[in-house]
Amino acid sequence: MVQPSRRRFLQITAATLGATAASAPWQPMTGPASAAAGPAATSGGVTTIPTFCEMCFWRCGGIAHLRDGKLWKFEGNPLDPQSMGRLCPRGTGAVGAYYDPDRLRQPLLRVGERGKEQWKAVSWDEALGFVAERMGRIKAAHGAESVALFNHVFGQRFFQHVLRSWGVINYAGASYAQCRGARDVGFQLTFGAGVGSPEPTDIKNTDCLVLIGSHLGENMHNSQVQEFAQAIARQVPIIVVDPRYSVAASKAKYWLPVKPGTDIALLLAWMNLLVTEGLYDKDFVARHGHGFEQFKAEIAGYTTAWAAEQTGVAAELIVAAGREFASHRPASIIHPGRRVNWYGDDSQRSRAVALLNALLGNWGRKGGLFLASGMKIAPYPLPKIADTGKPRADGGDGARYPFADEGITTSIRDATISGQPYPIKGWVVYSTNLLQALPNRQETLDAIQKLDLLVVCDTVPSEIAGYADVILPDTTFLERHDELLVGFGRTGWTSLRQPVVAPPHEQKPAWWIAKQLAEKLGIGASMPFKDMEEYLAWRIEKSGHSWDKFKREGVIMGEHQPITVEEGLTLSFDTPSGKVEFWSDQLAAKGFDPVPKYKPQAAAPAGHLRLITGRAPVHTFSRTQSNPLLQDLMPENEVWVNTATAARLGLTHRAYVRLKNQDGVVSNRVRVKATQRIREDCVYMVYGFGNTNPMLASAYLKGASAGALNTRYATDPLMGSTSIHGNFVSFVQEA
Ligand code: SF4
Repeated sequence: MVQPSRRRFLQITAATLGATAASAPWQPMTGPASAAAGPAATSGGVTTIPTFCEMCFWRCGGIAHLRDGKLWKFEGNPLDPQSMGRLCPRGTGAVGAYYDPDRLRQPLLRVGERGKEQWKAVSWDEALGFVAERMGRIKAAHGAESVALFNHVFGQRFFQHVLRSWGVINYAGASYAQCRGARDVGFQLTFGAGVGSPEPTDIKNTDCLVLIGSHLGENMHNSQVQEFAQAIARQVPIIVVDPRYSVAASKAKYWLPVKPGTDIALLLAWMNLLVTEGLYDKDFVARHGHGFEQFKAEIAGYTTAWAAEQTGVAAELIVAAGREFASHRPASIIHPGRRVNWYGDDSQRSRAVALLNALLGNWGRKGGLFLASGMKIAPYPLPKIADTGKPRADGGDGARYPFADEGITTSIRDATISGQPYPIKGWVVYSTNLLQALPNRQETLDAIQKLDLLVVCDTVPSEIAGYADVILPDTTFLERHDELLVGFGRTGWTSLRQPVVAPPHEQKPAWWIAKQLAEKLGIGASMPFKDMEEYLAWRIEKSGHSWDKFKREGVIMGEHQPITVEEGLTLSFDTPSGKVEFWSDQLAAKGFDPVPKYKPQAAAPAGHLRLITGRAPVHTFSRTQSNPLLQDLMPENEVWVNTATAARLGLTHRAYVRLKNQDGVVSNRVRVKATQRIREDCVYMVYGFGNTNPMLASAYLKGASAGALNTRYATDPLMGSTSIHGNFVSFVQEA
């Protein structure tokens, strides 16, 4: 779900709930007056239907085109603020998801040993009856808390409704501890608000953009990339900090080829530079800062000369880049990044990014970080998490890591392996390939062997589906209604997902699967509507909008509210001090550093190079590799190796090698990309490849999996994020 800062979210939610509090959460109307009107427009044999994309989490509004009744193409919806009428390559390739030859087609029950991939096709009734019966057995023996939900993508909301109603208290998505969670905690500790998704970076109006560990343009966040391209065209100075000469670096005024794992040293030196040279926003700090003098004393020793030694970046370059972005404040952004789970100190690293932004005084400022606004839509809230009298095993209550505010996947995995604080015996896994997403694949496999029930619901046979007891085939987003997208941005908006084509086989949408499961579990009231159209029309019409128009246009824009000081916004901060916390008393109280400190990462073992990872513009995680259109563009990944390193090790450009990590795990074969665009002390791969499920035939063993090589990981002590850049590899040449 797209989220604004916590304060904004609370304000908006309170207003929304206040507007509807007098009514019960679900009161079906007599039926939407306009339900008979269709969503489609037809001209010249081409029918167009708006819906929003789910090829990634950005959720751009698009328009599907059918020619002679067949799915033809998917284009951007000009009314939609996330796409602005244009899709990224993956969105354009969404048609390939529908035609993917490896799609799951019918429910499957395991008949052989777990993981041996022997199945029988069964009816939906039998499959869901099996799931309900096993869940009931687990509940009777151990309690409902012994079933956990792992979820991702938009259909997760329905499983959350049903499983929470049934008594599940443990659930998590890799999008938190294996992605953006540390970033939001770092900003929360500093400003009292996370940045959420989409990040409220006012790139459109900025005068300077710093990307540190964010390869925008390769990570294809559509609206942000469009604004980034416009910024390049406006000749806005771009500063890129990356061990790799990324696409973004090629557009930059300054590229700082930082040694992996030393970002905090650079950030501290930049903070010290701004303070000692008086380049920071003194008025912002005086009005809104808490603990600035303590902060100033804490960072005093971090000189640019010292940072040059740590980072491998010349001191002159650090100084020049720092003076550059400071000179444009407040219309200057240090991008918060997105996937930031790299070394286990990631919430402190993100706090350092937040503090540097604070010194620029760009919070709530035009060209800086605006405060996203939403819109009022009648809510249909999730049921409260049941009070079972037992602790949560997912860590989402902060009991294990004090600043965690969402469930942690690996905490559920740990509890499954250890049986503590109680046994976890059932996993319901919706649309997330835990074998690629979580660190240390063997720990995930060990946990799976402890389960009495593993349910996997997905569109394609992911690797974890290979270990399931029952597989439930989901529809692609082009074949289903889904939860409303109530988005937060420059102006709040609401988007509709609606079916464009019928499922090609026996696939069913997540809402239908969850509703049928609810019936089998005896809690049908948790999904009280007849179907999604009834539910969606109820929320839209109750909010005072036309369901018919919404179906035709796909998007409703909210009223614009002030998002910057320039527009009349008054700043406030939801921190204990009510101010921007340059010094964090709450961190100190929990025994953590109140100001980030630099702690060097472990050096590479002899003969090894650090493995770093990232994204490609044409694939999302391990979800899209079998999509024929996207596979055509990128069938496998490559391992980037510096040209000098390749020559020293006798590696040939484009030749296949295998990577062997420090623990002896050997990857699938992967081509060498010998290039000067990466430092000599690391190698780089796009993650999500090297799929090991033979049912995903077209992507089977294509490329290498960075996730499988991530056997050693550090856990962020503040909030439980797990690292992905703490492993080292050597090369095994193919005969
Ligand atoms: Fe779809 Fe691309 Fe938008 Fe993601 S960024 S939702 S893949 S168009």
